[in-house]
Amino acid sequence: MINQTENINTQKTILRSKISDERGYYGQFGGAYIPEMLYPNIEEITKAYYSLQNDEEFKKEFRNLLRDYVGRPTPLYLAKRLSEKYGTKVYLKREDLNHTGAHKVNNTVGQVLLAKKLGKNKIVAETGAGQHGVATATVCALMGMECIVFMGEIDIERQQPNVQRMKMLGAEVRPALSGSKTLKDATNEAMRYWINNPVDTHYIIGSVVGPHPYPEMVAWFQSVISEEMRNQLTEKEGTPNPDYVIACVGGGSNAAGAFYHYIDEKDVQLIGAEAAGLGISSGETAATIACGTLGVLHGSKTLLMQTKDGQVVEPYSISAGLDYPGIGALHAYLADSKRAKFYAITDDEAMQAGEELALLEGIIPAIESAHALAVLNNLKEDDKDFSKKVVIINLSGRGDKDLSAYSKYLGM
Ligand SMILES: *Cc1c(COP(=O)(O)O)cnc(C)c1O
Repeated sequence: MINQTENINTQKTILRSKISDERGYYGQFGGAYIPEMLYPNIEEITKAYYSLQNDEEFKKEFRNLLRDYVGRPTPLYLAKRLSEKYGTKVYLKREDLNHTGAHKVNNTVGQVLLAKKLGKNKIVAETGAGQHGVATATVCALMGMECIVFMGEIDIERQQPNVQRMKMLGAEVRPALSGSKTLKDATNEAMRYWINNPVDTHYIIGSVVGPHPYPEMVAWFQSVISEEMRNQLTEKEGTPNPDYVIACVGGGSNAAGAFYHYIDEKDVQLIGAEAAGLGISSGETAATIACGTLGVLHGSKTLLMQTKDGQVVEPYSISAGLDYPGIGALHAYLADSKRAKFYAITDDEAMQAGEELALLEGIIPAIESAHALAVLNNLKEDDKDFSKKVVIINLSGRGDKDLSAYSKYLGM
């Protein structure tokens, strides 16, 4: 159930500070399905997290770091040539301009401050493409904390630049050698490490996934995105509400942050873009809303891609940041309740949208974010009044890390 709003700041608008119920459920999705060994850790974090929400000193430190270290607020940019092309008004929320190049650092700053509060001096994290690993290694360097990042052996080979960045930032990158040697195996091994080192270590999850309170907590740290959107759009359009908010969905943290303060605003259509890979019927896909069924993954009851007997199916997308076999429980709920609509965007559609933004606006988006841009084509077809609309696309990250994939795809 969606809970009533609560006042988290002293501004005129009343902003919510939670979405799930106390046990971390969004409708039938969410919760905390964890081994007994993890109960003490999870309980400690849950308590600390709820007390943070009323901790003015914590909030001030968080806000100051977001401003002076991360570079917030990020601009809300009216993309004129892109707007002309689609015959509507398109704003880009420039999360690509954050320090380390994506939205992920909003969450790692929040969680490293939480770890400090808990008196932990060691951080463990999982990473797939390496983006969350880099964002975690970054804040650990900032705080002088020890950092261990688990990464699938195959991903280590595929994502060398990010492995090098993590090492330069002083983190230890440990290969996950089990299973398919990718993200879900790195997540399993990070959790195992945490179970064995519960006292001095905090586990920083990188998206709105995992057991409660992680999805709630990560969404709250990322909710600064929609908080800024509301203020910035009011300045530009005289109203906080656009007609559409569009974001790509891997685990769903940038989308959760972009949707957060719009969930109760029924005149705002929330749109998620998941990665269809080679197509939702191809077997080579990461489109969890389209292809997933109910199950439990990494401590949360949600939709996931699995075989009839519950084996997780390895996802595929050209974007390494979107190929998670599950999806944040919040998004499973938003899809189920029809509050949000999800489009499955293929590799081809995303790569073309990425090239288009580069040529029209001089901005090279992360391939993840390009999935959100591609939805403009779908909306133009599905919405007869599209020319009268105001659209915000959350540009979750920059494309520097993806240049070799773009070059290869575009034959440059
Ligand atoms: C990691 C990443 C994503 C996907 O993660 P979410 O939790 O779904 O936001 C999207 N965009 C970029 C740039 C990323 O680095």
